[in-house]
Amino acid sequence: EDGSGKGAALITAVAKRLHNIDKYLYAMRLSDETLIDVMARFRREMKNGLSRDFNPTAAVKMLPTFVRSIPDGSEKGDFIALDLGGSYFRILRVKVSHEKKQTVQMESEIYNTPEDIMHGSGTRLFDHVAECLGDFMEKQQIKDKKLPVGFTFSFPCRQSKLDEGILITWTKRFKASGVEGADVVRLLNRAIKKRGVNYIMAVVNDTVGTMMTCGFDDQRCEVGLIIGTGTNACYMEEMRHIDLVEGDEGRMCINTEWGAFGDDGSLEDIRTEFDREIDRGSLNPGKQLFEKMVSGLYMGELVRLILVKMAKEGLLFEGRITPELLTKGKFETKHVSAIEKSKEGLNKAKEILTRLGVEPSHEDCIAVQHVCTIVSFRSANLVASTLGAILNQLRDNKGVGRLRTTVGVDGSLYKMHPQYARRLHKTTRRLVPDSEVRFLLSESGSGKGAAMVTAVAYRLSEQHRL
Ligand code: BGC
Ligand code: MG
Repeated sequence: EDGSGKGAALITAVAKRLHNIDKYLYAMRLSDETLIDVMARFRREMKNGLSRDFNPTAAVKMLPTFVRSIPDGSEKGDFIALDLGGSYFRILRVKVSHEKKQTVQMESEIYNTPEDIMHGSGTRLFDHVAECLGDFMEKQQIKDKKLPVGFTFSFPCRQSKLDEGILITWTKRFKASGVEGADVVRLLNRAIKKRGVNYIMAVVNDTVGTMMTCGFDDQRCEVGLIIGTGTNACYMEEMRHIDLVEGDEGRMCINTEWGAFGDDGSLEDIRTEFDREIDRGSLNPGKQLFEKMVSGLYMGELVRLILVKMAKEGLLFEGRITPELLTKGKFETKHVSAIEKSKEGLNKAKEILTRLGVEPSHEDCIAVQHVCTIVSFRSANLVASTLGAILNQLRDNKGVGRLRTTVGVDGSLYKMHPQYARRLHKTTRRLVPDSEVRFLLSESGSGKGAAMVTAVAYRLSEQHRL
């Protein structure tokens, strides 16, 4: 009897503590009303980005990609794809063949991109990429073969054709000099020419690569979504809505670059002191403000900043603060994922917090798990809002009451976090009730998609030559 009384008191104490955290972080717990408002705001941003008059000042750039359709099944050949800008730098060889049906065979290697190369000169960065390509060709024993290369480059680029990409600005972890404002296809081709015979046929954003990869398996796929180190989405837009490209017929894929949502101040009412601190400590202050509330590069750090503040106020760890806890980057997004696991989560919390030296009690672990949930849930909710805006746009474009569509998804946060995908799906369906959305995980990343784009470009250029 005594035991259960004590148990009940403990549960009440824990409930009270969680309730206090809810109050403490109320600004991060977004109501459906707010999410619907954010969805409407993003829809306006999309419209501005697409319009000739407003595009120059629009925060969300809505970049035309010159990808006009998903693969039609007739592509074939042997292609190389480079994938730079996410968690890994990958090189792939993609063989597309036609026996009875189209089949794809892939081999890939992961290469390191050391920080001094990401932050050094652009020439060195592209020399590094070309060197890795050379190594890959050697390993594949195709050193002297002239294969078309597709380049997945996961940064905002202006394009006027498929094989051109003027970098608007670096994001995430990259900041190599002399590349912003330049054509990355030219820079890379120059570096490749020093060593070999390949040439770049197409540059695609990772969202586009993901949409194309999933489009290969599901013809209905018309959205590509990335929730990884960074976040972004693309979708198929009607040409008649794209002022920046001539012609009104058919559709073209638009890379929204939604990471920059809020860069003009439009999200100030929902940004918190923690979001501002993250921004101040980043490589690109004032930029990618939506991305900084959402993506994997920042989520662990957001949690850490909250824990520091709570500890300072005596709300955690009996006020203990250690140098580790105070070190930027010591709490990572993969830790958020581990702590939110349903069974081992609390043990993981204990392990991770113990390593930070804060000697957590069991209640501390429960509290930290709750903080993680609030931060990662906010991320999924925000993505549901912006994705919801895209879905509404697609529905209105088609003039149907009910939208049936497929969203191709990739990204480390979406794939590794134990609850993220489920929460995102659920919130999206609640915000856009008149839709039937299938989320399709891109099994092989965006590289296969880049190869498919290259294959299409190659097919079209062959036709030109005939
Ligand atoms: C970049 C996008 C990219 C996204 C996901 C963002 O930082 O601006 O181009 O798609 O990250 O990798
Ligand atoms: Mg990627």
